[in-house]
This record gives sequence, structure tokens and C-alpha cells, in this order.
Amino acid sequence: MTVVIDETHDPALKSWVASANGHADFPIQNLPLGIFSPPGQVPRGGVAIGDMILDLAGAVEAGLFEGVPLLAARAAMGDTLNPLLAMEAEPRRALRRRLSALFAEGSPERTKVEPLLHRAQDCAMHLPARIGDYTDFYVGIHHATNVGRVFRPDNPLLPNYKHVPIGYHGRASSIRASGAPVRRPNGQRKAPDADAPTFGPSQRLDYELEMGIWIAEGNELGEPIPIQAADRHIAGLCLLNDWSARDLQAWEYQPLGPFLAKNFLTTISPWIVTAEALAPFRIAQPPRPEGDPRPLPYLWSEEDQKAGAFAIELEVSIASARMREERVPPMRLSRGPASNMYWTAAQIITHHASNGCNLQPGDLLGTGTISAPTDDGFGSLLEITRGGKQPITLPTGETRTFLQDGDQLFLSGRAQREGYVPIGFGPCHGIIIPAPAA
Ligand code: CA
Repeated sequence: MTVVIDETHDPALKSWVASANGHADFPIQNLPLGIFSPPGQVPRGGVAIGDMILDLAGAVEAGLFEGVPLLAARAAMGDTLNPLLAMEAEPRRALRRRLSALFAEGSPERTKVEPLLHRAQDCAMHLPARIGDYTDFYVGIHHATNVGRVFRPDNPLLPNYKHVPIGYHGRASSIRASGAPVRRPNGQRKAPDADAPTFGPSQRLDYELEMGIWIAEGNELGEPIPIQAADRHIAGLCLLNDWSARDLQAWEYQPLGPFLAKNFLTTISPWIVTAEALAPFRIAQPPRPEGDPRPLPYLWSEEDQKAGAFAIELEVSIASARMREERVPPMRLSRGPASNMYWTAAQIITHHASNGCNLQPGDLLGTGTISAPTDDGFGSLLEITRGGKQPITLPTGETRTFLQDGDQLFLSGRAQREGYVPIGFGPCHGIIIPAPAA
């Protein structure tokens, strides 16, 4: 594992881009990569800095890069970041160092960089990469236990859970960047006491708070990824909302697992917060509770246990249509640390490739819903409302068991650790719109 902390993480570093200094998500220590369109223009690679976005193609044209950083910038200036993700970490790190120098207070290139900045609020964001494959895991052990209890009261955690990072292949085509409307799905649902299923709009539409792991270099088909090497396959992280239709899920999930209850849409935050930016926020994986089995050797690395988790605080909030009309700020539904994962990102990756399955640059892995052990940190309404039995009350007096049309859900994440400038992921939200006529 190579956790490199360098001058780009210096907490004293300030930018001449005034909005970056003290920015909740994008101070100069972050420098996430994404694909954006300036007004009326085609999608291209960019870097977020404060409230602004740097056009990488413009910066290349202006001659602001040379050597290795130029190779990396060229790989990031098209309409997807896949070419950059296919590179090793070193070019990404070299690009980061150059960008940090360009944006730093006192940079002699300020006058060349300034005209290449666009106001983020005027730009459209897109998916940062062509996602070849998307896999969703289930490593939030408190979520797995809570949900298991709803579906199987006597047997919440299945016997494989503590041995295998559980996952399923999701759907890449319906992943969307933050802000895309979420159309309520129609589907088959059957109440436990009903004789037969019916088809219509999901009545139990939910969200799932997850993190996404962007895959950098892939592996050849048939060649597993040893856990000691797993880290360099992580390009970065994002926030991920795995919208879930619980009524469809309950009826369809056996025996093959999630299908139409999950694949109608998945929302992600569109910036890749790079593994390099996250280096200072690597923390030890919480020890397994006494009595839990030790993972099989192929999933175990002392180094990964020492620094395989991330110090990221996650938060979910909601605003109904009425709350937005009445200008009531969103209400927080939960808050908790991303370290509530039973398996590390490296273990997820190694397990995925352990049978020779080939991961590719731009693949996306979801962690699974991350819940804290206590009520104030549950990562889905299924858990918060105890399967719809305990409604929550919004500031307007409206109540919710599951999401209504017009509800807007916000995920946010903040990496923070003593001695470093906190960095964030930017917005990850979506508004529920009505189902099409069934
Ligand atoms: Ca999920």
C-alpha cells in the first residue's frame, strides 16, 4: 500500500481562487476530477477548485503542463476520464502536484489559469467515466443486520456474511450524476396477506447511503488481484445512492437477489475524489468483534488492516416539495462514519477478482449501505422507520415512512482528520418524480 502524503496536503496551503479557501468540499487540498460542460459547450475533463472548475483541455492548450503531468492531463481532457483511470497512480499524482502548484497562492501562472476557470453553478456535470460494470456490495454490517431482521427476524445475518464480502452485479446503464430526476418505478409487488401480485408504482421507495469506489487499472481475465496490490486499483471515491423499491425487492429477491428493485436508477456524486487526495484520511480498519472468524488468507493483509478504512463522515437529509416551497432547510435523517464497513475497499476488490473476474478502468463498486449501530446513523428509511412501522415527521408536520413524489434526498460526505484540511465530495441529490402510467 502506498499512502503518500506530500506538499499538496499541506494544511497551510492556500489558493488564489478565493472561494477555495475554507470551501467545505473543494479546497486546494482536494482537486477532484470530473467531466463537465461549460454553458453551451461539449463535455470535457475538469478539476473542481472552490466554486470554480478548471478546463483541462484549455490548460493543456495554454501550455501549462509538460512531461508526465502533460500525459495525465491529456488523458483527462476528453469526454470521459477512462484513459486517465487506466494509468498508474504516479501520473495522477504528478498531475495533482502540478495542479496544486498552478492554484497555489503566488503561482506565477495565475494569469494564464484564470481565464480557463468556469463558475461551477453555470456548468452541467456528467458521469466522470464510461462505467463498464457496476457491482454493489453489502459491507455495512449494521445495515445488513437491520435489514436481515426485517426480512428474516430469526436469522438476520446469514452464515456466509463474516467470511465473504457479499455482492451482486448491478446495472451500469442507469447510473446518473447528481441532480438527475428519479422516476418512481412501476413493478410487481405482493403484500404478505395478498393472494396474488399486482403491477404498479412502488409504494415503498427508499434510498441507500453508500460510497462508490472507482476502479483505476484493471486486471487481466483469469489473473486475481492479491490483497497487497488491491490499493493501486482504487482511483478514488464518490457518494452513491442506491435507490431501492422495497416492495418490489421483497417479492423478487429470492432466489437470485436484487433485480428491478434496484436497477431503475443509481445516483452518484460526479467528482472523483482521488485516492491521492484521500491519503491523509486513511485509518485503521476497526477490529473485528471478539469471536468473529478471521478472514481467509487471500483477504487478509496487516497493512490493509492498519490503513484500509477512511475517516469520512456521511450524512443524509431530506426536503419535501412543501419544505422547498416554504423554504424550510433540508432535515437531517442520519449521520455516521464510513468506517462502519465490515470489509475494506481492498478486500472488496481482491474478493471480486479472486475467481479471475477482470475489473476494468472506470468500473464502479458500491460498498453497500453504510449504517451506524444507532438510530441516528441508519442509512435507509427501511431501517429508520422499522420497515415502515414508525413514520418520521418532517418540520412541516408531514410524515414519511417511504419517499413521496417531490421528495429530494441529499447525501454528503466529508473526509476529516486532525492536522489536515477537510475535503468533501460535492452534491449527490435527486428528486422523486411520479411513476409513468402503469
Ligand atoms: Ca445497495
